[in-house]
Amino acid sequence: MTAALPLALLAAVATRARAEPPAPARLEIAIVHQAVSTTIEAVGPVDVVPPGGRAKPLEWKGELKLGPREGGLRLAQLKLPSETRLEPREGALIKVGPNQYRGSLILRLDPGQTVTVVNDVGIEDYLEGVLPHEMDPDWPLEALKAQAVVARSFAYANMGKFRKDGFDLTADTRSQMYKGVTAVNDNVRRAVKETRGEVLGWHGELLRVYYHACCGGRTENAADVWGGDPKATPPPLRGVKDPWCAASPHMRWTAFFAWQDVMAAIEERRRLPGPLKTLKIGRRDLAGYVRDFVARAGGKDLTVKASDLRSSLGAADLKSARITRLIVKKKGLEFVGAGSGHGVGLCQWGARIQADKGRKYEQILRFYFPGADLSEIAE
Ligand SMILES: [Zn+2]
Repeated sequence: MTAALPLALLAAVATRARAEPPAPARLEIAIVHQAVSTTIEAVGPVDVVPPGGRAKPLEWKGELKLGPREGGLRLAQLKLPSETRLEPREGALIKVGPNQYRGSLILRLDPGQTVTVVNDVGIEDYLEGVLPHEMDPDWPLEALKAQAVVARSFAYANMGKFRKDGFDLTADTRSQMYKGVTAVNDNVRRAVKETRGEVLGWHGELLRVYYHACCGGRTENAADVWGGDPKATPPPLRGVKDPWCAASPHMRWTAFFAWQDVMAAIEERRRLPGPLKTLKIGRRDLAGYVRDFVARAGGKDLTVKASDLRSSLGAADLKSARITRLIVKKKGLEFVGAGSGHGVGLCQWGARIQADKGRKYEQILRFYFPGADLSEIAE
């Protein structure tokens, strides 16, 4: 469905009178998923709307506990059906846990007697709630604008990804971090507003874009990270040499792991035929990221996927698979690496440094997605 989203080239759209901007799409984001309970607080007038029923004002003030009850939901002392909407009036917000949200909420009882809270929100409001958690909101405006276009493209391309679970996207790193109006500042508001509706396209179709903290000198071909034929990747996602992020704090790093931790990480997925003797770098892809390691154990050489090892050892410490060297130490192994994240698409530190040097978001996007069209979603 998403591949067929109609796109209008922005160059053409920009000349059109924008008296009536198209109504932006809405997204359903799971802000609480299968929790034992959560808290809800109306910040302004809010209506309770049962399915097919009539709206009634929520009269309870303060923080209310939402949890399951036999056959439905309980919100403080209110007994609600197993699916109930909360609709804000007059621009009211609703606080869920520590964060405040725009748009309405769908409160849902899960089959396992847990509760899920889904935020039904316009995509532009959603983006304001994503930006400050995916990029520092005090970074330069042009970097935030590039991030806004990429995050919007990501949202459209992944709309409905979690439909079988009853919503479009999660509010965590499986989709994009989203925390409602918390942490939104003027910079974020401007970045979203000044790029309203803009996405990246390729030959009239929406481009499936990605972003990461720092590429370490060269961005990745998407297929080298997620599989498939690298030559079949659309050219804007095949990776570029990036001199911009060289001053990033993620450019060079080391991470030390004790032998038993490396061994345990490998054994999360496969049994080793004996104690781990050495680990060496195996194949690399074109961008220089390690694709696999070779582990020597019990007299045998075994191939270990770099992405598996990274997720087992922890992506926060082993910041990327761009490992330049392995240093064998007495008690363990030191990984020397560059960059942070999967390396596909927009390099956020590179974008920030480009913006610091006065480059505009269109130039930043053209640099990381060569040949892509800055387009507008035609609603
Ligand atoms: Zn970079």
